[in-house]
Amino acid sequence: MPAIRKPLVHLARADVPVITSRALTLFAELKRCRCTCRPGKRFECRGCKEREQLDEALGLELRLPPWRFPSVEDPNAICPYPLGHAGREWWAARDRSGQELWLALEQASAEARAAKPSAENSAKAATDTPRPLQ
Ligand SMILES: [Zn+2]
Repeated sequence: MPAIRKPLVHLARADVPVITSRALTLFAELKRCRCTCRPGKRFECRGCKEREQLDEALGLELRLPPWRFPSVEDPNAICPYPLGHAGREWWAARDRSGQELWLALEQASAEARAAKPSAENSAKAATDTPRPLQ
C-alpha cells in the first residue's frame, strides 16, 4: 500500500527573521548607544562594546546566521574609513541586508508605538506575537 506523503507546512520561513517584542526592545537599546572612541579608533569605548553585545543579542533573538555581523546597520551610517583606506572598498561593496533589517525594525517599532496609546492591551498582544518580515 503506497504511503501518502504531504509536505510539512512551516508557519515561518527559516530565512525570514521574525520580529518579536524583545527584538524591538533590543533594537531601541542599541540605537541609544553612542560611540565615544578617540578619533581614528573604533570599538574601544563603552558605547561600542554595548552596541556590539546588543547586536549579538538581537541576532540571536532574530535567529540570524551567526556569520551575519553586524545584524543591523543604520542606513544613514557614514563610511568610517578615510580616503585611500582599503576599508572604503569593503564599505562600498558590503552586504546591505542589515540596513533592510534596520528599516523593518524601525517600521515595526513605529507600528507598536502607534498602537500603544489607543489600546495598550491589544498593542502588547500584537508585539508579543511574532510576525515575519514583509
Ligand atoms: Zn566607540
